[in-house]
Amino acid sequence: MPRPSPKLDSVNRPFWTGGAEGKLMIARCRDCGTFLHPPQPVCRHCLSDDVAAEAVAGTGRVETFTVNYQAWYPGLEVPYVIARVSLDGVPGVILTTNIVGCAP
Ligand SMILES: [Zn+2]
Repeated sequence: MPRPSPKLDSVNRPFWTGGAEGKLMIARCRDCGTFLHPPQPVCRHCLSDDVAAEAVAGTGRVETFTVNYQAWYPGLEVPYVIARVSLDGVPGVILTTNIVGCAP
């Protein structure tokens, strides 16, 4: 069974598809500069709807993590790591993500 994918829409599509081009795309308000994650159509800080996705560095610092041993759907490889990562250059955003490319 393939890993479930999120339902894409005009607001979240850049975030979920940017990785195919090697980019981490985070929504940002063009009026006040606030980064918005998860992606939102309206800025939570100034209520502007002038929000667009912006490529960010894609590096950061693992703040915390958990190693999961439960396969929540058939075919999910375990163990896997879910972490909360503060992104470099993206103040106020902590990304919940898998950590890959290293042993748990
Ligand atoms: Zn704003």
